[in-house]
Amino acid sequence: MLKNIDFVYYTGDIISHKSWATSKEENTKTLKDIYGKFSDTFKNKTVYPILGNHEPHPTDFYSPEGVRQDYLSTQWIFELVANEWSRWLPEGTKETIKKGGYYTLLVKPGFRIIALNSNVCFTSNMWLVYDDEDPYHQLSWLVKELQKAEQQKEKVHILSHIPPGEVLCHKQWSNQFHKIINRFANTVSAQFNGHTHSDEFRVFYNPDDSNRVINVAFNGASFTTFVGFNPNFRVYQVNSSNAVINLAICGLKKVFMDDAEDQDFLGGIEIVKNVI
Ligand SMILES: [Zn+2]
Repeated sequence: MLKNIDFVYYTGDIISHKSWATSKEENTKTLKDIYGKFSDTFKNKTVYPILGNHEPHPTDFYSPEGVRQDYLSTQWIFELVANEWSRWLPEGTKETIKKGGYYTLLVKPGFRIIALNSNVCFTSNMWLVYDDEDPYHQLSWLVKELQKAEQQKEKVHILSHIPPGEVLCHKQWSNQFHKIINRFANTVSAQFNGHTHSDEFRVFYNPDDSNRVINVAFNGASFTTFVGFNPNFRVYQVNSSNAVINLAICGLKKVFMDDAEDQDFLGGIEIVKNVI
C-alpha cells in the first residue's frame, strides 16, 4: 500500500522532549537529518511538512515579527525550514514560511493544501505574553486564502500541529479558528493534526447548531512510543474529485459507518453525527 501513496503529510515534532537539552545547533542537525531521511524513504514523493512546538530553541518559543536579536529571535528556524522544505515545495511558498512557518499551494486544479504554524497558539509559547495578536497575521492570511479557494471552487486540506480546541491552545486563537472553519466548512474538506501522539479525530460542530457536524480533524498518531503508545502512522484514501476522506478504505469505517458502503466523509456526515 505504501508504494502507491501519492504524498505524505508530516504534522510536526521532530526534536525530542528533552527540552532542557536543546540548542540551535543540535536542533538544526536533527531537523536536517530527519528531513533527509524523509527524502530517502519517500523517493519521488512529495512530503508536506509543518513545524511542531518542539522544533525551536527554546522549546515552544516562536518569537513575534520584529524581534530581531539573535539570542531571542526564532527567525532562524523559518530560514532553516524554508531551505530544507524547498526540496518538496515550490519557490512561491518561501515568503510565508520565512514570515511565520506557514504556506499554501495548489496540489492540482481544485485541490489545495494550507499548512499552518499553529504552535503560536500553544500556551507554553511564552511570547504570547509579549504579543498575542494574531501572530504573523496568520489567521488573517488563512481567511484570505480560504476566500480565494472558495471563489476558485477548490477543496482544501488544512495541516496544523496543535489541534485547535486542545486545552493548551490559546482560547482566543482556537475560537477564531473555529469561526473560520465554520464559515468555510464547504471548502475545508479535511484537517490533519499532530502533537497529541494519539490516533484520534476531532469533530467540529456548528456553533449555532450543536447537532450539525461541520468538519473533522484527523490525527495519525506518532512514530515515538512516548508515552505508552505503539509507533503509528495512518494511510488515508482521498476522493480525487473533492479531496474528502474515504473512511471505508482508511480503517475508520467501523467507527463512523456501520451500515453504509463506499461513502466518503461528507457523504457520510449524518452517520458521523449519529455516532458522536
Ligand atoms: Zn507538539
